[in-house]
Amino acid sequence: RAKAEGRNGFRFFSAEMNQALRERRALEQDLREAMATGQLHLHYQPQVNLSTGRVIGLEALLRWDHPVRGRVMPDRFIPLAEEIGLLSRIGEWVLREACAVATRWPGLRMAVNISAHQFQAADFLRAVRTALEETGLPPARLEIEITEGVLLTDTERTLATLEALHALGVSVAMDDFGTGYSSLGYLHKFRFDKIKIDRSFVATLTDDPQAVAIVRAMIGITHALGLRCNAEGVENAVQAALLRAEGCTEAQGYLYGRAVPETELAALIESAGGPQAEAVAPPAAGE
Ligand code: C2E
Ligand code: MG
Ligand code: MG
Ligand code: MG
Repeated sequence: RAKAEGRNGFRFFSAEMNQALRERRALEQDLREAMATGQLHLHYQPQVNLSTGRVIGLEALLRWDHPVRGRVMPDRFIPLAEEIGLLSRIGEWVLREACAVATRWPGLRMAVNISAHQFQAADFLRAVRTALEETGLPPARLEIEITEGVLLTDTERTLATLEALHALGVSVAMDDFGTGYSSLGYLHKFRFDKIKIDRSFVATLTDDPQAVAIVRAMIGITHALGLRCNAEGVENAVQAALLRAEGCTEAQGYLYGRAVPETELAALIESAGGPQAEAVAPPAAGE
């Protein structure tokens, strides 16, 4: 009896596995075609100055508009693209496209997400240089967003890449701060220009005094280290007011606007009171 159940269990499991595998293969095949057929698009979410609410930058966020599946979000297809070796080509396109769009929005910084694997790849720096050269975007207006995962492997290489980016005049933000490899040691070891407080902390701000304490401490660290601080996922005015009171200077979230195609940016930026060109300068020499 136990044996029969085992067999049934196995058959059931294996049918599900086959289904999942087929589905994955189909998605892979579609993704290979997506770039060539123009199904990948960038949307742009405004980053605002928390005290004025005006737009100081944009974050490029990838969207895949599949003719049958509809819109596929990056959390679903980026890991897949990475596994099948497509992400470096997609990433090069993202960099160039985001830089090209940024040239049409003077004074605004453009943030581009780079996965751990992309960041460690041999051709990453060349892709950054090429995108800047081909579009003519001043390097100080490009910001690379990486997550804590980047810091887990090959420390020497990571340090060298961060140095090279800074030497180019490109800034680097630590994304999803507080969710990954949560050692504060790396803030000392690696140089960032900005920290983005993960939206999971912002989400619980209004009803959890502990969350307020943690966010206060995070903002304190950014001040102590002289870094810019951005709070992600700000959805309501109460969260914004709390963050402002704690000294956070930048924010991003549905309260200010979702990621939209470039064609909708002008209206979104105007409704926030227009752009606010802040001093976008490369880090001081010798720092
Ligand atoms: P992320 O870089 O942390 O981006 C923030 C995510 O939070 C975005 O999701 C954004 O749409 C969403 N978001 C923004 N404001 C709010 C809010 O107020 N509330 C809530 N609930 N969510 C908000 P999205 O676009 O689905 O992107 C997910 C992740 O995919 C990104 O997280 C980033 O890690 C990755 N990603 C997106 N585009 C690219 C890309 O071009 N290259 C790479 N390597 N990764 C990308
Ligand atoms: Mg990001
Ligand atoms: Mg994030
Ligand atoms: Mg994220």
